[in-house]
Amino acid sequence: MGLIVEGTPMTWKDIVPISGHIRYRAALQFLKSYQSHKHRTGDPFLWGDEIEYMLIKLDHTNSRAVLSLNSSDVLKKLRQNNDANYFEETEWHPEMTKYIIEGIPKRPYGMRGIIDLVSMETNMRLRRKQVADLLGENEKVLTISSFPRLGCDGCTDRISNPTINMQLTSCVMDDLISEDNFKFRGLIQGVEDRRGNKVTISIPVYKDKNTNYLSQDEITHEISEKQETDQQPNDIAIDHALYGPACCCIQVTIQAKNLEEAKYLYDQLIPLCPIMAIISVFKQLALSVVSPLYKGFMTDIDTRWPVYVQTSDDRTLEERKYKYGEVGHKGSRTGCVDCYLTSDIYNDREVTYDEHIYNKLTSEGVDDLMSKHIAYQLIHDPLTLHEECLNENNNDDTEIYDTMNSSNWRILRLKLPIPEQNMGWRIEFRPMDVQLTDFENAAYTVFVTLLARVILEFGLDFTIPLSKVDDNLNRASRRNAVLEDVFYFKTNNETNDTMNGMKNDFIPESCDKDYVQMTIDEIMHGKDEYKGVIYFMNKYIDRSEEFDTKTKSTLNKYIKLISDRASGKEKTRARWVRDIVENHPSYKHDSVISDDINYDLMVKCVNISDIQ
Ligand code: ADP
Ligand code: MG
Ligand code: MG
Ligand code: MG
Ligand code: MG
Ligand code: MG
Repeated sequence: MGLIVEGTPMTWKDIVPISGHIRYRAALQFLKSYQSHKHRTGDPFLWGDEIEYMLIKLDHTNSRAVLSLNSSDVLKKLRQNNDANYFEETEWHPEMTKYIIEGIPKRPYGMRGIIDLVSMETNMRLRRKQVADLLGENEKVLTISSFPRLGCDGCTDRISNPTINMQLTSCVMDDLISEDNFKFRGLIQGVEDRRGNKVTISIPVYKDKNTNYLSQDEITHEISEKQETDQQPNDIAIDHALYGPACCCIQVTIQAKNLEEAKYLYDQLIPLCPIMAIISVFKQLALSVVSPLYKGFMTDIDTRWPVYVQTSDDRTLEERKYKYGEVGHKGSRTGCVDCYLTSDIYNDREVTYDEHIYNKLTSEGVDDLMSKHIAYQLIHDPLTLHEECLNENNNDDTEIYDTMNSSNWRILRLKLPIPEQNMGWRIEFRPMDVQLTDFENAAYTVFVTLLARVILEFGLDFTIPLSKVDDNLNRASRRNAVLEDVFYFKTNNETNDTMNGMKNDFIPESCDKDYVQMTIDEIMHGKDEYKGVIYFMNKYIDRSEEFDTKTKSTLNKYIKLISDRASGKEKTRARWVRDIVENHPSYKHDSVISDDINYDLMVKCVNISDIQ
C-alpha cells in the first residue's frame, strides 16, 4: 500500500478528542467500499510477498557488527534508479526504522497462472542484489528477524545519545525511527501516549549457569518508578514501542475471486498462522538464527511474536486488566484476529466492539460477522493521521479506514479492493519470520500460496475455536516448540461439498470436537486417519495440469524444506545459534551476547546469505 508522506501530522493527542467521529468515518468508508465491491467477482488468483531487509555494518578491525542507519539514502537510490529494465520487476518501500527497507515484486505473481510460483525466488534474488549493489564495502544486507544487540548502547553506526543506563532501550531506539513518513513516529508515540506510559516488553532470559538477573534496583531504574508495568522480575525489559517494528518479517498477500472466497480463505488460514509461525523460526541451519537473541541477551523465546504483541499494546493499565469473556475486554491490536468471518461457531473469544459502528453496518445490510470484524477493529483509536484526510469532501476514499486497518497488526489482514489498481479482495498472511536466504523465503511463500490454492481447490476446513488458535500462538513462541510442543489442530478437514473447491455458504456442520493436540510433524505429515497438510499439497501438485515435470520438482524442493523442518530432520542443526554462542571463546555462560559474539554471528549470517 502506498504510504502517504505529505500532509499535516496529527498525533494521538490531537486525535483523541474526535476519535469517535474519526472511527465512525472509517466505518462509513469501509461501508461505502463494501457496498461497491461486495458483488465484485472474477478476480484472478494472484499473490505477492513483502520482504524486509536489514542493513548492517561490519567493523572487522574491532570485531563489531552494528546497524547501518542508511535506509533512507538506499531507498532514494533504489527509487531513482534510471535503469528501468533492471528495476521494473521490483518496488521499494520505507519501513519504520532507519535500517530496514521493504521490497516487493512490482507486479503480483500469478498473471501467467499458478506456474508463477517458480518465478518468485528469482525476483527475491534480484531484490537482494539491487540493495547489495548500493552498499559500501563493509555494509551488508541481511534478512534476519531481529538484530541481536538491538537496544544496546552502540548498536548503530551513529551514537548520538550518551548512555544513561546500559539497559535502557529508549535513548537508543528513539534515534532509530525513520523520518521517511511522519506516521512512523506518530505510531510509536501514539502507542505510548494512549497507554499512558512506556511499553514494557518482558522477555524471559535464557538461564545459563552464570546468568545474573537484574537486581531490583536495576529494574526500577529501567522502568520509570511511577509506572505500573507488566514487567516480570528476572526478565529482560525493553521499553520502546519501536522494538516490534524493528524486527523483520515476510508477508504474503493473496487475491480471492470475490468476497465470499476471501472470507472463506481468511477463516481457513487463521488456524494455520501459528503453525507457520513456528515452522518459520526453524531456519536452515538454525532454529531461529537470531530470534532468541534480544537486546544483547540469549532469551527463552524463539519467535518475535511475544515481542511484537507487547510492543504495540496501546491499552491503558485499566484496559489490560480484563480477561477474554469479561465485559470491557478490548482485544489487542496485535496477535490473533478477533473473529472468524464465515461462521460464529468457533468465535469463542468475545471481546468488546464498537456497538454504534456495529449497528450502523448491520442496519446497512453488512452481515453480522463482517460488521463485528470492523467494529472490533475500529474500537481502537487511530494513533496517527494527517489532517487533510479529515476533509469532509473526502468521503470517496478509504484512507482513514486503511490507516486504521494497517495499524491493527494481526496475524491475518483482510484488504479492501482498490479498483484503480486492479486489486480485488485480498488476504494478507503475516505471522512468519523472514528467512536468511532467498531459497527459504521463496519456499515459505510458495508453501503459503499453495496452501491457499489447496484450501480452495479441495474445500478444506481447518477451523478450530479461536481461543485454541490463540493458545497455539502463545505456545509457538516457546523455545523448541517446533520439536517439543503440541498444538490444537483439526483432523477432519475434508468436507463433502467441493463445489469448484469452495463451499458456497461455508458453514462447519457442527462444533463437535474434531480437533486434537498434535506435534508440528503430525500436523504436517499426518497421524492415524488424519492425512496431514502436506498430503493435500502433493495431491494438488500431482493432479495439476499446469505443472510440467521441472516445475513439479522445483515445488517439491520447497515443500521438502518445510516438511523437513516440521519433522525435525534438521534437528541436529537446530540449536545452531545457541551452540555458536555457547561455544564462543568469549561467552561467559551469562546469557550475554557481547559485541564480538554478535560480530561472529553476523559474519556467519552474511556468509550464508552470500553463498546461497
Ligand atoms: P502492504 O504494505 O499494505 O501490506 P504492499 O504494497 O507492501 O502492501 O505489498 C502488497 C503485496 O501484494 C505485494 O507483494 C504485491 O506484489 C502484492 N499484490 C499486488 N497486487 C496484488 C493483487 N491484485 N493480488 C494479490 N497480491 C497483490
Ligand atoms: Mg505496509
Ligand atoms: Mg508493505
Ligand atoms: Mg513491512
Ligand atoms: Mg516490520
Ligand atoms: Mg504488508
